[in-house]
Amino acid sequence: MADTMKAAVVEKPGKLVVKQVPVPAIDDNEVLIKVKYTGICGTDWSIFTGKYSADKLPLIPGHEFSGTIAKVGGRARGVKVGDRVTADINMACGVCFYCRQGQKLMCPEFHQLGIHVNGTYAEYVKAPFDQVHVLPDGVSFLAGAYIEPVSCVIHSSKAARVTTGSSVAILGTGLGVLHARLAHLRGAAPVIVIGHNPRKLALAKEFGADITINLNEIKDPVAEVKRLTEGRGADFVIEAVGTPATYEQALAMTRPGGTLAAFGITAGDDTITVKPFDLVLGERTIVGSCAGVGTDWTDALALIAHGHVKPERLFSMIVPLEELEAALNELRTNPALMKVFVSSEISKREMLGT
Ligand SMILES: [Zn+2]
Ligand SMILES: [Zn+2]
Repeated sequence: MADTMKAAVVEKPGKLVVKQVPVPAIDDNEVLIKVKYTGICGTDWSIFTGKYSADKLPLIPGHEFSGTIAKVGGRARGVKVGDRVTADINMACGVCFYCRQGQKLMCPEFHQLGIHVNGTYAEYVKAPFDQVHVLPDGVSFLAGAYIEPVSCVIHSSKAARVTTGSSVAILGTGLGVLHARLAHLRGAAPVIVIGHNPRKLALAKEFGADITINLNEIKDPVAEVKRLTEGRGADFVIEAVGTPATYEQALAMTRPGGTLAAFGITAGDDTITVKPFDLVLGERTIVGSCAGVGTDWTDALALIAHGHVKPERLFSMIVPLEELEAALNELRTNPALMKVFVSSEISKREMLGT
């Protein structure tokens, strides 16, 4: 194996360079993975523009990935060279208060592959062997690179504890589409998805939404959700946009006794106005969820392997590693694009039909 590999490195905010870098050296507890595909995520844009992880530059981003094991460390068990895999990107110290509580996402040393340490916009990446998940036979490399976002939605769905027969309103048609699927799988009814893009709203229906609210036609989604729920508001509301305005709408459309799941990521210093009165007398619950971790990954694999989540309809195209920066920009300007994957193994774009 060569000592160097091709990688896309964010050297400083706004400067992304594809160049040769050393292949990662692994220790006894790690494996080296030959990367097949990496899905582009909004977090990658935030890293590229310096809004996130600026103190970690230079950095190879990329965290939604699949690949093949190329090398295993001396103490690695349960995986072997040639296995088709993805990996849980969440790493923590393992010994602090939070880690001992099983809440590794809160660990003071919490860090994520491709966000805080080098990731997968490269030919190879290293990962701890015990975070690797082997892809079942029926799960393609593309679907394998989509396990991470599915795991995040599962984590949020578990936190909210959506119950059978309950109404669920979802703001947003990015991962909101997947939230619709998860709500449907949990037996919620009606599942209501709110967004601007007619194509994505149509996809939300395919994924399990019973009703969609097109904001180009309906200006007051809070009033509309209340109208659809006998004036009460939804039992569960999932904010999957990440702006203060949509968070305030989300809380306003949560019925008394209902639950708001905070999923969309705002800027670190964004604030919203909340009337404590609505929480106290309204007994509303707000639950957060940071990422998919641990069993969320095996759950995501099971749902995809058995066809309960069919993510392929959300896949737009694969671009060569050299076109990563162009694709990051296109995702900002072309609202029709859904998931875009990057590969270091191709030299021209492959369209995937959505
Ligand atoms: Zn992501
Ligand atoms: Zn810890």
